[in-house]
Amino acid sequence: MRKSVVAVVGRPNVGKSTIFNRLVGERISIVEDTPGVTRDRIYAEAEWLTAEFNLIDTGGIDMSDEPLLVQMRQQAEVAIAESDVIIFLLNGREGITAADEEVAKILYKSNKPVVIGVNKIDNPEMREHIYEYYALGFGEPYPISGAHGLGLGDLLDTVVGYFPEMSDEAPDEDTIYFSLIGRPNVGKSSLVNSLLNEERVIVSEQEGTTRDAIDTHLHKDDQEFVIIDTAGMRKRGKVYEATEKYSVLRALKAIERSDVVLVLLDAETGIREQDKKIAGYAHEAGRGIIIVVNKWDTVETNEKTMKEFEDKVRKQFQYLDYAPIVFLSAKTKKRMHTLTPAIKTASENHSKRVPTNVLNDVIMDALAMNPTPTLKGKRLKVLYATQVAVKPPSFVVFVNDPDLMHFSYRRFLENRIRDAFGFTGTPIKIFARKRQ
Ligand code: GDP
Ligand code: GDP
Repeated sequence: MRKSVVAVVGRPNVGKSTIFNRLVGERISIVEDTPGVTRDRIYAEAEWLTAEFNLIDTGGIDMSDEPLLVQMRQQAEVAIAESDVIIFLLNGREGITAADEEVAKILYKSNKPVVIGVNKIDNPEMREHIYEYYALGFGEPYPISGAHGLGLGDLLDTVVGYFPEMSDEAPDEDTIYFSLIGRPNVGKSSLVNSLLNEERVIVSEQEGTTRDAIDTHLHKDDQEFVIIDTAGMRKRGKVYEATEKYSVLRALKAIERSDVVLVLLDAETGIREQDKKIAGYAHEAGRGIIIVVNKWDTVETNEKTMKEFEDKVRKQFQYLDYAPIVFLSAKTKKRMHTLTPAIKTASENHSKRVPTNVLNDVIMDALAMNPTPTLKGKRLKVLYATQVAVKPPSFVVFVNDPDLMHFSYRRFLENRIRDAFGFTGTPIKIFARKRQ
């Protein structure tokens, strides 16, 4: 189900990141030992009471080389396009500035609910400063202190109150939700069109106010699919084209609702730095992943080309060693038939459960094959393992001391589990827990 999206906009230094970090808190996942994965803290899950939502820090989208007014205008446009409710943050110690008024003008025209947070009101005596903010025309301004965590509750109560009614309909368990991500011009729209061409297509306009989120249903190979946010791939004008981070934001939103993510590469231009970053987001989100090398028609192929390209991909995307690589051409439809079976397999593996007894047989065989490591004379003892979750499959391994579970041994166990159960297309997670 789609979660509501809240965007925080405001001038530099009003406290957007402070508020963002406070609301997101510990929930930002920190993935250790994943080389090549970076995280821009611009989009994250947050919760208030029983409401879970996604939060965008528009200030995290770096446009510092633009003049302030242009930055502010772009921030406001992103917030309007991407969110259901907007928190407009001001500095309670500086009053309303020209840049604030500029933002207010744009937000006012948008018809999105806007809640005013007047930040840096660190003590009750300062509350009298907030009245001037009524003049912005967005109703009651909420005095808050991001630094001290004051007033946020009242602000959030109002924000949550504006969330659109989401349909209670649980996502259909048998339907596979997937999205396509990749830098501009890799062929995302072309691939969707190619998939839809001769298939039964229902384009459904989802409820909710994020007007560009449109899901496309696809029935193929006896399977129901939903392609997420294909309309989000439509060109949305200059702002979106200009800034890489906006496409990242869109990608993050699509990834979040997906079972499987297709990471598109362009065979014609080869692998670029931006591809790695985009792929890193999908990996980190724990979704099923397929690497799609598009525009395969542009490559003069012989018996070695595919293998050579595959080697390049494997070298550049080492953390995605579980993702199958599909070569195709959206344009000529060459090898298009290989795509949906790969999506199905990845999705099945992403939600696969393995029996505990078989899992433990595999673990015990692994231990016999490769003795556990020691640290300062103490040897790792593995007692047993159990699968605790799916999407992605996650395992807890009970050990005498989790500190002894070295990265390389965890990796070894992961590979043994993969060999035994076949988790092609999905990351798996292994946690070490202490048990005497
Ligand atoms: P951003 O540029 O809007 O993301 O602003 P930041 O979150 O980076 O904050 C800018 C500065 O304001 C930092 O030095 C923060 O410590 C400070 N700040 C943020 N919130 C508060 C607050 O509630 N009270 C006070 N006194 N300072 C704050
Ligand atoms: P998007 O920005 O990722 O959605 O990319 P588009 O689908 O708009 O495609 C960008 C350009 O690449 C267009 O000119 C397409 O015609 C072209 N293109 C897309 N797929 C293929 C392909 O398989 N082969 C070739 N030769 N060109 C392609």
